[in-house]
Amino acid sequence: AVDDATDRPRISVIGTGYLGATHAAAMAEMGFDVVGVDQDPRKVEALSAGRVPFFEPGLPELIEKHVATGRLRFTTDIAEATAVSDVHFICVGTPQQATSFAANLSYVEDATAAVAKNLTHPGLIVGKSTVPVGTAARLRLLVARHVPAGVGVELIWNPEFLREGKAVDDTLSPDRIVLGGASPAAEATMRELYALPIAAGAPVITCDLPTAELVKVSANAFLATKISFINAIAEVCEAAGADVSVLADALGHDVRIGRQFLNAGLGFGGGCLPKDIRALMHRSKELGAHQAAGLMQQVDEINMAQRQSVIDKTVVAAGGSVLNKRIGVLGVAFKPFTDDVRDSPALNVAAALHLRGAQVTVHDPEANGTARANFPTLSYASNPLDAAIGASALLVLTEWPELVDVSPESLGEIVENRVVIDARNCLDPERWAAAGWRVVSLGKETVV
Ligand code: NAD
Repeated sequence: AVDDATDRPRISVIGTGYLGATHAAAMAEMGFDVVGVDQDPRKVEALSAGRVPFFEPGLPELIEKHVATGRLRFTTDIAEATAVSDVHFICVGTPQQATSFAANLSYVEDATAAVAKNLTHPGLIVGKSTVPVGTAARLRLLVARHVPAGVGVELIWNPEFLREGKAVDDTLSPDRIVLGGASPAAEATMRELYALPIAAGAPVITCDLPTAELVKVSANAFLATKISFINAIAEVCEAAGADVSVLADALGHDVRIGRQFLNAGLGFGGGCLPKDIRALMHRSKELGAHQAAGLMQQVDEINMAQRQSVIDKTVVAAGGSVLNKRIGVLGVAFKPFTDDVRDSPALNVAAALHLRGAQVTVHDPEANGTARANFPTLSYASNPLDAAIGASALLVLTEWPELVDVSPESLGEIVENRVVIDARNCLDPERWAAAGWRVVSLGKETVV
């Protein structure tokens, strides 16, 4: 057989965090030679040794496999990657700016300029990071300024929709592939790269650059809106004596609505939704799109109010003050199946209670380490029971299956006060009540 491997586009992935490391490994799995580039030498060292420096199910196996096959390697040196690659994926972070709601685009600009400067042969730069609409057009100008004379280059946008916790499956089997601003040649290259998911039925949507950027932003804005919608309805349920969980199940049977992202509770967090709706708010205002800005502001306010509501319920449950009281916290990751605590509502609540003078002990199956790095003054326990010892109130803040299933009978023996704040409406209230607990939920009546 002809060795067609040499004709295949070779890939570099700039930024090997949650998105980039997964994308790099998935591209290797799909049969391509991949070089991952990160400016963080510890990340590169770990990944080069086949280790993943964060928790993502299935990813360590894939990285280890393709570091071993030689199809996947990592470096801190961008020139080393551009020298041997044809398609360059930009996967660096776009966090919220320290002083405004706008996205910090300096990493994307630096990474894109670095690729352009170091190109030695024609290349395709593919933006994957989530960016405010209009960014890619500016990056095209940046690329034109930096690319060496005579080297052909094109920049397109291919936003990423993976979910942490399911990142590997989402990358290997995406719901859709969006290609923004691609010439026929670039589209053909992308179709070659994604041949396997396309053959498996993933639709390809080709569009202009701003539409591609906005598809991603509005997907996250819609998901955030769904969560804040149900939390607003939960407020009504609580005031009117209705049950938001039953209501959400009933709503979810309507296929136009769907059951996902309708869980009332502590609200959304993580490295994406909060900063993406804020960046949309900021960008919409710049563009004079005030309805969108207003909607996002309301979504954000409802979401942040959930954290305060859980803090208030905890204070009441602990007898009017948490000062010097022990509070047990189960879960600090922003959602289950990740160790990510970026803008985690759970860590936010735990930290706020600590700042009110509570003695907070936290247990998370995977996120104790990342939480401790962010908030070292909390106490961290290696199991749920140790977190609950002597607690005046117990909080379930992340719905990890092992925390949902924890035994109310065992916990009941070691707490000071059998009151649990079920901030994710994930516990079985009858089971807990049978074990002598008062169960405080959101958007439904307290079960005693
Ligand atoms: P991350 O912080 O985990 O990873 C970003 C990485 O980029 C870091 O390792 C950092 O060291 C590296 N980096 C920054 N500047 C660099 C440079 N100039 N050269 C080389 N490396 C550089 O962030 P993430 O969660 O992977 O998110 C990356 C982007 O993907 C963001 O725009 C995010 O919104 C988007 N996104 C994330 C997810 C997700 O679930 N995490 C999903 C879809 C889209």
